[in-house]
Amino acid sequence: MKAVLLICFVFSVVCSKEAVCNDTETKARILLINSYHPQYDWTAQLTQGVKNTLNDFLPSENFHVEYMDARRFVADAVHEQLITQLLLHKYRSFKPDVVITADDAAFYFLIEHPELFANTPVVFGGVNVFKPELLQDRDNFTGILEGMEISGNIKLIEQIQPKVEQVILLSDKTELGARMTDQARLELAKLTTRLSVKIWDDFSLAELHQSVNTASANTAYLILGMHRDRNGQYISFSEHLLPLTNLSKVPIYGMWGAVLINQGVMGGLMNNPLQHGASLAQIAKDIIRGKQVSDIPIRDKSDFVPTFNYRQLQRFNINLDRLPKASKIHGRTESFYQKHTEIVHASLAILTILLAAIALLALNIQRRMHAEKQLLQLNKVLDDKVRSRTEKLQDANVQLNSMMDELKQLAHTDPLTSLYNRRAGMKKLNKLVTRCISSDKELSVVLLDIDYFKRINDNYGHDEGDRVLVEIAKTLDEGIRPTDFLYRWGGEEFLLLFPNTSSLDTTSLCKRLQSMTSNILVANEYSVTFSAGIAQLTKDESSAELLKRADEALYQAKGNGRNRVEVSLNLQINSTG
Ligand code: GH3
Ligand code: MG
Ligand code: MG
Repeated sequence: MKAVLLICFVFSVVCSKEAVCNDTETKARILLINSYHPQYDWTAQLTQGVKNTLNDFLPSENFHVEYMDARRFVADAVHEQLITQLLLHKYRSFKPDVVITADDAAFYFLIEHPELFANTPVVFGGVNVFKPELLQDRDNFTGILEGMEISGNIKLIEQIQPKVEQVILLSDKTELGARMTDQARLELAKLTTRLSVKIWDDFSLAELHQSVNTASANTAYLILGMHRDRNGQYISFSEHLLPLTNLSKVPIYGMWGAVLINQGVMGGLMNNPLQHGASLAQIAKDIIRGKQVSDIPIRDKSDFVPTFNYRQLQRFNINLDRLPKASKIHGRTESFYQKHTEIVHASLAILTILLAAIALLALNIQRRMHAEKQLLQLNKVLDDKVRSRTEKLQDANVQLNSMMDELKQLAHTDPLTSLYNRRAGMKKLNKLVTRCISSDKELSVVLLDIDYFKRINDNYGHDEGDRVLVEIAKTLDEGIRPTDFLYRWGGEEFLLLFPNTSSLDTTSLCKRLQSMTSNILVANEYSVTFSAGIAQLTKDESSAELLKRADEALYQAKGNGRNRVEVSLNLQINSTG
């Protein structure tokens, strides 16, 4: 909250300052006194430069402009007196806060008429010839000396036209012309140059025409100031210069940019009135804002920039490479590239970077596509391998399964008789016991043992024993019912399971089997016999207990003389009881 208040306070202070400032500026009044007339290009552009800079600073009503017309009324005392009276009259009522003077005539006019704007700050500009002693006791004067660029222009001519041997400086006998001539003499005395430099200040326009038209190729002209010719003929740059430069066989140089550059003049180190006016207005603004005139030093010289006219450069075959680097060339139709070199270069750089990026991307895409293709091929190879391996594995699996089945078969089969073996018998017995107990069904088991089998082996050989075993197995298998089960229990013993059969019925069945096996002869000599023990499953009895009872019955049959069938007593007790 405090911070917000502080910001509001600072803002209000700033705003009030701005308001005070604007108020001062609004009331201020500035007068620009031009030496020449409004149609004179230099004057028009300088005035425009001042105006542009004051635009937002003053109401346009408070900016006054006067023209002394000193190019056309040279050394005209009446004219000067009338102007003095006019200015006195006008600016008694509208007293300016700052007076700006443009060019020598206005400056000297104020120096000579201190009664006009006594103590009002004066900012002078465009003064070509200046002597510091003029401003003794005039501490309300400051400004920018336009100066002249005589030495620089002679050096420039020497540089860009190596074949030139003499330069003729054009001046006149007017007050300003004379001051310029003096200034030129002073400078030339100090200048070292291979060129011969002459000042010509006393000619008629016709003589000047004649001179330029017959000039030898080793000559160049440099205009200092031409206001009137020897006959008092006013020389207007806009009217008289173009016919002169058209006639000239050699280049004519000058330093007053705005008024000369489009009148057939080659160019030179030239000043810029627009910029000059803006600089003067800026000083005036500083003064109105409170800066003391005494704190603003007089600036020595305005900028003279190498400026050329393209048509003249071509007309006189000037090698453009000889021009100073920062030269401004008027009238050259620049190509798009010349106009926008930086944009073209930047665009090209961006385009190059983009192309490089696109190329990189394309390369990357190509590489990726190649890699993907390789990957696909590898995948295909891998798939093929996996498929073939899987097929082989499946084959092996099928083989294994069949082998397992075979093994299982072998594990449950007796190789000699091809009957299911003891293991299979045990499994079946367990299942039947569980099922018959839960469903309360009958189940009888029989343990069957061949009588005196050892003797067969002993008397007729093992092979005969095997044969008898196989025969018995076959006969028993044929003799039982489809719902009964037969197993080789071990040696010459067999297990028979009779589901849903009582011990009584089992006894009958065993008897039938006895009669069937009696057909089997041992060595064609005697019939084979067996003994059997029967046990019928009782409630809650285990397979082991059931078997044990069958075995006991078998033992009993053996004991009772063999070739017999005995039934476990336990059942008899249960069944009878
Ligand atoms: P018992 O009437 O008391 O049963 O007398 P046994 O001679 O039949 O019984 P024992 O237990 O004394 O002899 C059984 C014989 O059976 C002994 C064994 O060499 C023979 N034997 C067991 N398995 C085979 C076989 O697979 N082939 C042959 N040839 N003989 C076998
Ligand atoms: Mg036995
Ligand atoms: Mg036996």
